[in-house]
Amino acid sequence: MNTHRIVIVGGGAGGLELATLLGNKAGKRGSADITLVDANMTHLWKPRLHEVAAGVLNADVDELNYVAHAQRHHFKFIMGRMSGLDREQKHLILEPHVEGDEQILPQRALPYDTLVIAIGSNTNDFGTTGAAEHCIFLDKRAAAEAFHRKFLNEYLKASQDPSAEPKHCNIAIVGAGATGVELAAELNHSAHELVEYGFDQIKPENLTITIIEAANRVLPVLSEKASAAILRQLKELNIEVLTNEMVTEITADGLHTKSGKFVPAFLKVWSAGIKAPEFLNGIAGLESNRINQLVVRDTLQTTQDENIFAFGDCAQCPRQDAETPVPPRAQSAHQQALLLSKSLQRRMAGKPLLKFVYQDKGSLISLSRNGSVGNIMGNLSKDFTFEGKLARVMYITLYRMHQFTLHGVFRTLLLIVRDRINRRASPTLKLH
Ligand SMILES: Cc1cc2nc3c(=O)[nH]c(=O)nc-3n(C[C@H](O)[C@H](O)[C@H](O)COP(=O)(O)OP(=O)(O)OC[C@H]3O[C@@H](n4cnc5c(N)ncnc54)[C@H](O)[C@@H]3O)c2cc1C
Repeated sequence: MNTHRIVIVGGGAGGLELATLLGNKAGKRGSADITLVDANMTHLWKPRLHEVAAGVLNADVDELNYVAHAQRHHFKFIMGRMSGLDREQKHLILEPHVEGDEQILPQRALPYDTLVIAIGSNTNDFGTTGAAEHCIFLDKRAAAEAFHRKFLNEYLKASQDPSAEPKHCNIAIVGAGATGVELAAELNHSAHELVEYGFDQIKPENLTITIIEAANRVLPVLSEKASAAILRQLKELNIEVLTNEMVTEITADGLHTKSGKFVPAFLKVWSAGIKAPEFLNGIAGLESNRINQLVVRDTLQTTQDENIFAFGDCAQCPRQDAETPVPPRAQSAHQQALLLSKSLQRRMAGKPLLKFVYQDKGSLISLSRNGSVGNIMGNLSKDFTFEGKLARVMYITLYRMHQFTLHGVFRTLLLIVRDRINRRASPTLKLH
């Protein structure tokens, strides 16, 4: 009998955890053939992208190589970008991989018995005029690195400008969700660090960071208490926050709002919404929603095909305790990966699938790596808010939990030690 083929597309916060957990069990036993497909060769945990943008995290050090990881955890890795699906033939299509003028890999068809789609999301600019041309969408490593280079170049230019005029830099961030708020705080931190490295021509007080939010408060998904505490801390960091302001147009010089305001900005970041990749919309007759997410049942199976599962940001999953679906968060993807790793093994053993129940563990918002600046945890149901070093430790723990799922205790401890050594031995900011 042929070994059951499970293909997981997308090695992100959810997909890589699932491939690892299944590989460690079913892959190791030989009871299933597990394959992970990703459009890139390396994994970087997406919630850290704002740190890459601000230069406080060197992605080259933190990335994980899929090939080496797959070899260690008993699954196969295939580099490729999914672009289509044939449900009758039960194979997915990977588009040709091209670098410059050279086609490295042709279009390929990859067969499956069970397919799991976990390809995450992209930024949704809601068709706002000028957003695609002038904003950086902080949803990919390349975009975060591009932002970092532009940010550094401003300091480089200022450092070589002989005029005695004070130098300024304006940054506008659309959206006061976790990404926007955390990016603003990290950039403020970087501005202070850059002065330490001699880039003191742009004084921290001359770096203007403005967050523009359409809702009436920052972090509208958190409790009012948490939101107020975050706003207070942003103000202490000299970050401007405009609420009740809808951005209507973005130009090379800045942003226009519905109320008639103009926010001048050299660097513009859009972090106000998400949508799943366009090609998922109605793919092979599967049900999708208006932001291209595949609609799934509480078993994480797509509504039209029981052999195709979807989870994480690219899926709309029902929630038992709320009318809104499971939110697009790393903690959701993590919980779903844990459930699916058990469920898929049960399915192969002829047992019923488990049902996903989302457990909101609250949200941690990092307002810079300086413990004295503090962090917040807000949970709508309990409205429990706390700040300071404890929150900072808990925020870091989230990432360590992801590493723990991927590498186990011993290797995670090694990585913690490595990070500590790097912090001592390397510059605190990536300066190139
Ligand atoms: C800056 C930032 C900060 C965030 N902070 C937090 C936070 O503090 N807490 C929190 O809970 N959440 C946070 N999030 C949200 C969180 O990152 C996502 O919810 C989470 O990563 C979703 O996991 P996923 O597995 O669905 O997708 P992802 O982690 O995005 O992984 C998707 C994977 O699919 C691959 N892929 C994409 N398209 C294809 C294709 N066509 N073919 C093959 N592979 C493909 C990608 O290369 C990627 O590896 C943050 C997001 C951002 C951008």
